[in-house]
Parts: sequence; C-alpha cells; structure tokens
Amino acid sequence: MATNRTFTMIKPDATKDNHIGGILGMIEQGGFRIVELQKVELTPERAGEFYAVHKERPFYGDLVKYMSSGPIVAAILEKDNAVADFRTLIGATNPANAEDGTIRKKYAKSIEANAVHGSDSDENAEIEGKFFFGK
Ligand code: ATP
Ligand code: MG
Repeated sequence: MATNRTFTMIKPDATKDNHIGGILGMIEQGGFRIVELQKVELTPERAGEFYAVHKERPFYGDLVKYMSSGPIVAAILEKDNAVADFRTLIGATNPANAEDGTIRKKYAKSIEANAVHGSDSDENAEIEGKFFFGK
C-alpha cells in the first residue's frame, strides 16, 4: 500500500539557492520520514515525461525548460495521510497565495519557480516515486 507515502522534488531554483537543507528540515519537522533521497539533473525529455499531464497547458514548454535547468532533489516521504498533509505543508502553487509557515511561502520565488513539488494523489505518488527510484 502506498497510502502513507508521497513524492517530492526540491526544484532547481531552491536547490541552486542552497535551500536543500532548509526544506528537508521543514519536511522532517512536519513529521515526514525521508524514505529515499537523490540529487539528480533531469534532461528536458525526462522533465517533459514527468509533467506530461500538463502537455496541453500554455506554460508546459517553460516548465520543462525550468525543471531541466539544474539539479533537483527527489525524495519519497512517509507519514500518515502523507499526500494531503504534504500539500498542506508546501502551500499553494502560487506563493502569493501560500499560507504563512508553508515551504512555498518561505522559499518559492514565483508560480513557476515554486521551490517544491508534491504529489496530488496516492496513485501519482506511487508512479512518481517509481519514476525516480524504481520502487
Ligand atoms: P506540483 O505538481 O509541482 O507540485 P502543483 O500541483 O501545485 O505543483 P500544478 O497545477 O500541478 O501545480 O502545476 C505544476 C507546476 O507547473 C507548478 O508547480 C508550477 O511550477 C508550474 N505552473 C503551474 N501553473 C503555472 C502557471 N500558470 N504559469 C507558470 N507555471 C505554472
Ligand atoms: Mg501538481
């Protein structure tokens, strides 16, 4: 069962700006256990595949370029109610709307360079975890 796991990426802007430690600290403080962790650079092809669900959206090309612009940190996280609780911890997609105390409020620069990814369902958490870790 994958119900208590989610998947995250620390995106290129946050990785480049030395916020890996700060973000992983907030994740652990939030009660998540880091199950898998990997720093890696996505090719445009891999980034495009990861975000294929957004292929028809106007921002897709820029998103793929951005997500392959530098290293990211991928992780599988474990906690009760992991997917929903992690979405709460990261805050709104647009940091202008993110609540105080959230990761995006603290670290996101814009709606695109928004510091972290979080899976939106148990099913996608499993698919995304496999995409990076094969398990
Ligand atoms: P993520 O999937 O990265 O956790 P999310 O679920 O909050 O983010 P999605 O709607 O899935 O938001 O969008 C995926 C990513 O695409 C966003 O995190 C952001 O980087 C980018 N994005 C979303 N909407 C826009 C937009 N209007 N303009 C530019 N980039 C956008
Ligand atoms: Mg999403």
